Amino acid sequence: MSQNIQDKIESLRVELRQHNYNYYVLDDAVISDYDFDIKLKELQKLEEENPQFFDSNSPSQRVGGAITKNFETVVHKNRMYSLDNSYSKEDLLDWEKRIQKNTGVENIEYACELKYDGASINLSYENGKLVSAVTRGDGFQGDDVTQNIKTINSIPLVLQNDFIDSFEIRGEIILPLDGFEKMNKERVEAGEDPYRNPRNTASGSLKLQDSAEVAKRPLDCLLYHVVGNKLPFETHFKTLENSRKVGFKVPDAVRVCRNIDEVLDFINHWDTARHQLPYETDGIVIKVNNLHLQDELGYTAKAPRWAIAYKFKAEQESTLLHEITYQVGRTGAITPVANLEPVQLAGTIVKRASLHNADQIKKLDIRINDTVFVEKGGEIIPKVVGVDLSKRPADSTPTKYRTHCPDCNSELVRKEGDAKHYCPNEFGCPTQITGRIQHYISRKALDIDGLGSETIELLFKEGLIQNFADLYDLRKEQIIPLERMAEKSAENMIAGIEKSKEIPFEKVLFGLGIRFVGETVAKKIAKHYKSMRHLMNASFEDLVLVDEIGERIAQSVVDFSNDLENMQLIDRLYQYGVQLEVSKESLIGQTEKLKGQIFVVSGIFHQMTRSQLKKSIEDNGGKVSSSISKKTSYVIAGDNMGPSKRVKAEDLGVKIISEEDYIDLIN
Ligand code: AMP
Ligand code: ZN
Repeated sequence: MSQNIQDKIESLRVELRQHNYNYYVLDDAVISDYDFDIKLKELQKLEEENPQFFDSNSPSQRVGGAITKNFETVVHKNRMYSLDNSYSKEDLLDWEKRIQKNTGVENIEYACELKYDGASINLSYENGKLVSAVTRGDGFQGDDVTQNIKTINSIPLVLQNDFIDSFEIRGEIILPLDGFEKMNKERVEAGEDPYRNPRNTASGSLKLQDSAEVAKRPLDCLLYHVVGNKLPFETHFKTLENSRKVGFKVPDAVRVCRNIDEVLDFINHWDTARHQLPYETDGIVIKVNNLHLQDELGYTAKAPRWAIAYKFKAEQESTLLHEITYQVGRTGAITPVANLEPVQLAGTIVKRASLHNADQIKKLDIRINDTVFVEKGGEIIPKVVGVDLSKRPADSTPTKYRTHCPDCNSELVRKEGDAKHYCPNEFGCPTQITGRIQHYISRKALDIDGLGSETIELLFKEGLIQNFADLYDLRKEQIIPLERMAEKSAENMIAGIEKSKEIPFEKVLFGLGIRFVGETVAKKIAKHYKSMRHLMNASFEDLVLVDEIGERIAQSVVDFSNDLENMQLIDRLYQYGVQLEVSKESLIGQTEKLKGQIFVVSGIFHQMTRSQLKKSIEDNGGKVSSSISKKTSYVIAGDNMGPSKRVKAEDLGVKIISEEDYIDLIN
């Protein structure tokens, strides 16, 4: 009897899975919605009566219902990179030249596809089943949104056919335009504000707590990249074709191009044809088709070298400029802002736009009461790109750039070579002071719970804090009497501050807000210097030797370290027990065996993947470089190493070793 029931359940699952695939991926339904619902109800009933046959990947799971209170943070097995952008034929030709130089290959084949505008997602599959779905987050770690993702019908929970045993597939969660309009129509009818654009709505949907709510939204998932150890395919194009065969929704608009001219044909076609697409796209992504070559090219700190995005020209609107205001950032940088007559642009209403700096205002001769053109580029903040001179009022006068800080009234300075004006009053300008503390507590830095931007302003106004070190001296009795504070919130705040003492050094370093030291740079520096003490003693000459640290960053770090106030702040952080050194655990497996040696890695390897090999070099204190020079200590050659690299290494007398030689070297 039980065997019968189990068979029945299994056959319903298989049948519903196939219908689902026909309908949502192939867009070719073979049964009516009504019949589908009957079968689904039957399955749900059997599953309810026989909970021993529960399967988290059953089609019944798609209706949702699971509640996620806190989305768990998960470290990506393989980093999710960003893409470099290009805007012209010249940009693409430059990119091609770099690839040719890097690989020694003349004729490069490309795969072109659309750039889908949504929220990126990483899906992991094991033995044909979906095991997890994680958002991109900061590229290193994201949020586990598996329960919500399961409600998206075009994502296979179980694959249609055999594929790779274990792999990740990346794609974009999007809201097709008609679905978005329908959602907005319903919202407006219900008296609610419409959503602003499909992209943000798609991305917000992934973080809804109730998956049944997610199930109601017409989300879709378009796939574009498979990540796995030794993929069984030669090219990106073939990988996509095979992914489509096992059930993934991979759009048809993928074309193999033999040269940049063919790439440009593809771009030109879609520059107009995109307006007929059922979803939004903001460009084209061009990828080196051959997977070995991709591997050979590898990644920069931010993006693959083997892919580039081509951005379509942004949409423009014209509107009236009412006023120019000036914003002070946490580093004292002044940004002029255009306050505009609200205008609809690419799906959102724009009221403010960046004017960048004094040069930009002068160059475009932007004046108050001008009619200006606004454009939305890749960034979220729109920008003013020109003036409609025919509409300029007769009495208009050129804009005089502000000379004093809008906040503390200090005279603004502008260093040579800097595009921006700065307020020099670093330790006395209120916006800079609170800005730095706000940055210190932010999610990517010390991530202090129970403390928000407004509270920081309040604490500052009340004279309780002047810098981030002061946070650690706060006492509950000081906080409770403040506006909107209570015993409980004060306790939470103190507990949150206390807990920040566990945050690892690299994040603390980022939190210090040293100019030009973003997340990635902070990681690099933390890894290299291992402690704040070492870093504070590092000279300019020493800093520029660190991989990817340029002169601008080095100078900024030195300026920071030489400042007496900063020295005092760091001393205090040490006293409070904030993590200013890399933890012992993170040093396990790390040696100095390869110190001072520079490696170039080329070809295909067997015992390790290329990225494991690179990591091993770095873990042992060596450096990985992408091109061979006199400074290179070793080239590690795998199969199919680029011929030009071999010639170059031989010419320069650089030692070429095998993967096995390398392993001997570190053992
Ligand atoms: P950006 O966010 O502008 O740096 O662009 C990089 C992002 O584009 C990636 O992280 C992907 O999420 C997204 N993307 C959209 N379509 C594609 C595609 N066809 N290939 C690769 N990435 C894509
Ligand atoms: Zn100021």
